Amino acid sequence: MEKDMLIQKSKDLLWLPFTQMKDYEEDPLVIEHGEGVRLYDTEGKSYYDGYSSLWLNVHGHKKKELDDAIKEQLGKVAHTTLLGAANRPAIELAERLIDLTPAPLKRVFYSDSGAEAVEIGLKIAFQYWRNKGYQDKTKFVTVTNGYHGDTVGAISVGAVDIFHTTYKPLMFDSYKVPFPTVYRNELPDPVDVRDQALAELETMLSEKGKEIAAVIMEGMVQGAGGMHVMPNGYLKGVKNLCKKHDVLLIVDEVATGFGRTGKMFAVEHEEVEPDIMMVAKGITGGYLPIAATLTTEEIYKAFYADYAELKTFFHGHSYTGNQLGCAAALANLDIFEKENVMEDVERKTAFVKEKLEALKALPHVGDIRQLGLMVGIELVLDKETKQPFPWVERIGYQTTLEMRKLGMLSRPLGDTIVFMPPYASSYEDLDAMISIMEQAIKETT
Ligand code: PLP
Repeated sequence: MEKDMLIQKSKDLLWLPFTQMKDYEEDPLVIEHGEGVRLYDTEGKSYYDGYSSLWLNVHGHKKKELDDAIKEQLGKVAHTTLLGAANRPAIELAERLIDLTPAPLKRVFYSDSGAEAVEIGLKIAFQYWRNKGYQDKTKFVTVTNGYHGDTVGAISVGAVDIFHTTYKPLMFDSYKVPFPTVYRNELPDPVDVRDQALAELETMLSEKGKEIAAVIMEGMVQGAGGMHVMPNGYLKGVKNLCKKHDVLLIVDEVATGFGRTGKMFAVEHEEVEPDIMMVAKGITGGYLPIAATLTTEEIYKAFYADYAELKTFFHGHSYTGNQLGCAAALANLDIFEKENVMEDVERKTAFVKEKLEALKALPHVGDIRQLGLMVGIELVLDKETKQPFPWVERIGYQTTLEMRKLGMLSRPLGDTIVFMPPYASSYEDLDAMISIMEQAIKETT
């Protein structure tokens, strides 16, 4: 199809996710191919993939080992159902995931996206207590500004107002406690911010623990809520409180898993062992839609019974455990080992941190938050008072459009610019991407 026709049809036929199509019509973009950390549009213009194709690409595009693994699996079978039947790549991947994640996690339930993995985690937690005879433990506790995907269950434990308010009548109620957001907090010391947030959770669990099935939160970094890093000791504190009050801890590692925060999984920063953990995005190196919900053996055992007891987990998706996806995930994990990717991430994290110092001096950069290669740059009207830009000005959106003109793709979270490069970006690439962000910010603020 002619390139102009492609662009026209993209406007006429598609309905893009999280996109106001009126905006898209003004600035359409059709990606034609990718190579390494670059993407190319129909005009042949190249862009850095500055958001890892929505936080999931790891080793770059057209990575030979991943391409080959998928082709090899295609020679065997593309997909068979996991309902009542296992398959080799799904088994091998489960073994690798169990090896890599905290020791108590011993069972893997597959799905196809982060949100599905979250739905599964919620339903497992809910049914776990029922199967054990605790009918009252039905509620979830979540943190303000948390994000867990866009399905109805996931938004019910989410709290990003702009995404979720419309659907309130559709959602089930969950309890919210404040997330320990350091920026703009009236308490200047992150230790106090942490302790205050933990005290609120303690009160909630003391008062309502008997009706609470689980606490759910993201691992170390609140991603879509604006890239807010938890103060040290918070997640560990949450785990201790959950244990004390007999409530499960569910950690959502959909965005943070597979090295993004500088550890293979973010929970490793605090040696936290969740009861349930979700992974997706980077699991296949950003190639195919596989997700997984991992649980402890204790949880699994609460479902294991004679069929007539009706303790089965009645949940599944058609493409769950897809062989091509599992084969890609296995090849992805091989690359992590062979190429010492985590050491590379550590070095690149330090490099990025140093380079971002230059941006701190810009008059409208209010805060730069980073853990590993997960970065948010918050733009503000007034640096001293931290007053945001009027939201209708959409400074974040305008800045990423400017970045696009300069040859780099990303998407903002409000006025926070997301910088999540593929780990395969060279130092030169990282430097160039940071320069583009600097130039774009200067241009738009
Ligand atoms: N959980 C977290 C923490 C996420 O950041 C996301 C997506 O960004 C999701 C869940 C949803 O994942 P998916 O988009 O694959 O449904």
